[in-house]
Order: sequence, then structure tokens, then C-alpha cells
Amino acid sequence: MKYLYLVAPILAILALCGVYFLIQTNKRPIPHYEFKKQDEIVWDADEYYRHLKVKPFGSREVHRLLIKRTLQKPGVYLESLEPALDTAGLEIVNVYHTILGDDYTPVITSGNDWPYHAKNSKHYQNKALDFRIQLIPMDKRRQIVERCQERLGTRFRVLWEKGEAEHLHVELLE
Ligand SMILES: [Zn+2]
Repeated sequence: MKYLYLVAPILAILALCGVYFLIQTNKRPIPHYEFKKQDEIVWDADEYYRHLKVKPFGSREVHRLLIKRTLQKPGVYLESLEPALDTAGLEIVNVYHTILGDDYTPVITSGNDWPYHAKNSKHYQNKALDFRIQLIPMDKRRQIVERCQERLGTRFRVLWEKGEAEHLHVELLE
């Protein structure tokens, strides 16, 4: 056994070869993925609900989702809200997220509650929502209002109520 001292170096070389082999076999081609341009991504409420895999998605669930995705000022009454407003509310939440980031939680400041709305206000028919917009930088405020108007289309009226109680007002048109 005069060559016994060679065993250790040979084992070391074999180990190195093994590691090299493992590295080589691990070099798989990286799959090519083409990113969509930002402006090609169109958010779609139905697609979003499907993605959540919570079908069947009834109006109660949409309402619950709106409550979960927003904060509500104390005293805000939304229990009898028209289902169309729940959907519109979620669109608005998404607009806030796209402009202010996903961590921002929009605040609903009025539903069918505040006694100081105009007498024939849609608020008293459960067809209007107010969102807090104060404290947001002015350029972002403008973006939010414009994006909401685009998003909600002709079925809704989106108003940027200015003044002391500045807010974003959304109502369902007949
Ligand atoms: Zn309002």
C-alpha cells in the first residue's frame, strides 16, 4: 500500500469534477418572457374577480370586498348601497392603487348618511359615494379624478367637490 497517500488527492479531484458536472447540467436556457408595455395593461374588474377564484361572486361578496379594501369614516352607512356602486367603488380603489401604490387604503367618507347633502342627493338613494381626497398631493388628486372619470364612463358622474369638505363624489346616473 505504498500509494495510499494518493487516495486523498484523487478523491478531491473526483469531487471537483462532480461539482463541475452538476454546474454544467444546471445551465438550462432561461425562458424568454416578453413584458407588456405599461399602457397595454388594461385592468378589468371581471378578470380580477376570476383571478381571485371566488366565483360565484354575488353582489354581497362584491360589497364585502369594497368594505375590506377601504376604510370608512365613522358613521358612514353603506349597507343598502346599490350593487353598481360597489363595483364602481372597487374601480376607484384600483385607481387609487395605480396612482398612490397598493399600500394606500382609500377612505369612504359618505354613503347614505351625512344629513347635509342636497335634498335630492343621490346619497339618500344609496346611489352615491364620497372618497377622501384631501391630503393627497394636488397633481395626484387631479390624476385620480380624471382616471375615475375615464374608468367609470357614462353610467356614473364623478365630481371633484372642492372647498372646505373637499372630496371625490361618485354617483350612479339613471
Ligand atoms: Zn357626495
